[in-house]
Amino acid sequence: MMLHMDLDTFFVSAHRTRDLSLLNRPVAVGGRSNLKIFDRKQVGVRLYNANRGAFVNPLFYPSERQAFEEFFVEKMPDGKEKIRGIVVTSSYEAREKGVKTGMPLAEALRLCPDMKVLVPDYLLYHELSFALHRFLRREIPRVEQFSIDEFFGDLNGWVREEEVFAYAVHLKHLIWQKFRLPISIGIAPSKWIAKLATKFAKPNGVYLVKKEEIPEFIEEIPVEMFPGIGKGFRKRLSEHFIKTLGEASRHQALFYSWKTPGRVLYHRIVGDDGESVSERNDRKSIGISRTFDPICDREEVRRRILILARHIVFLVFKAGVNPTGYYLGLRYDTGVRLKQTFHEERLFSDQVCQEVFGKLFEVLSEYSGTGCVTKIRMSVFRFSYQSRLTLSLLNIKNDYANRNLSLSIHRLRQKYSLDIIKKGSEL
Ligand SMILES: [Mg+2]
Repeated sequence: MMLHMDLDTFFVSAHRTRDLSLLNRPVAVGGRSNLKIFDRKQVGVRLYNANRGAFVNPLFYPSERQAFEEFFVEKMPDGKEKIRGIVVTSSYEAREKGVKTGMPLAEALRLCPDMKVLVPDYLLYHELSFALHRFLRREIPRVEQFSIDEFFGDLNGWVREEEVFAYAVHLKHLIWQKFRLPISIGIAPSKWIAKLATKFAKPNGVYLVKKEEIPEFIEEIPVEMFPGIGKGFRKRLSEHFIKTLGEASRHQALFYSWKTPGRVLYHRIVGDDGESVSERNDRKSIGISRTFDPICDREEVRRRILILARHIVFLVFKAGVNPTGYYLGLRYDTGVRLKQTFHEERLFSDQVCQEVFGKLFEVLSEYSGTGCVTKIRMSVFRFSYQSRLTLSLLNIKNDYANRNLSLSIHRLRQKYSLDIIKKGSEL
């Protein structure tokens, strides 16, 4: 059998392990885009990098450890104070009052005025997630980390089927004793049905779906609850009046007409995909994004893109990969979203990264009349290894020189700080 383990309200629970006064009361962890990186004056900011397999952006600013007022409350030009930020995670006590993930904090506090709002502490989450992963690897032969607070485990050949439920209860107990973290566990013959089962285990429970119970279990579940059914599939399914997983399971030919993604999804839904728990958790992309008040000055947007590019360079060298795909997405105050991707088989460096993102920005800026920018989202993907690159001969000499220079800069950045060396164009 396969286990899917999902920590309950993880970020809130993490703070509760340190502060018992947060137990049994409405609590939320808030989030805000860190905009300090765009400050012209800022120098010597140290970055923590705790990317040890957990799936969250591994960049931390120590300044994120601040009080509520410092982090979320902003003085407006008219002298009034405004609460910024959104709910990232909330406790069940807050959810009972209608608080939801993604909700503006100001609104959540209107619904639940006695809710305690915490400043995020990503370093703490990483440390706990890493410790739990290490613990699970000792307890279970094959473990896959799926996100910062979710894990798959393969118990086949390890725990007998009739003992799996008791084993999961025991594991939950151990995790509570060792970490004081509540966790929910779904059990099923396949990974994705186990993940679906976890939703029925929450909060703080265990839910088992046996092989012969799968058809009955999925029958009434709305399709959008299934992991991996996003906007696109939801639209296609609703065009065929398919609302539940049970209905979906009776339309194999339709799913097959959607090629590989449809075929893969169909077998996940009926629980015979046979996918294994993979212990490797290679990252497939590295990205960063920032949301801010509308910026109408094109040069300021470009400057911010170059700053974010510097952060991406740092993360890429940390991960030791060579990306060949680049993505730039911009959101405007008019609601318009523009995006552009670019592929370039070149050795990655500061220069190449800034050049490509600069070009992508040129392309997007050609669409005029879109308004002022409120969000920048950038990522790099399609990692390849140096030996497998078909390098463009035109650039190769320069690219090697640039890469060597970038690597030396990276060493300095690791030692001192990410903003020890900036490009003139950022200032
Ligand atoms: Mg969770």
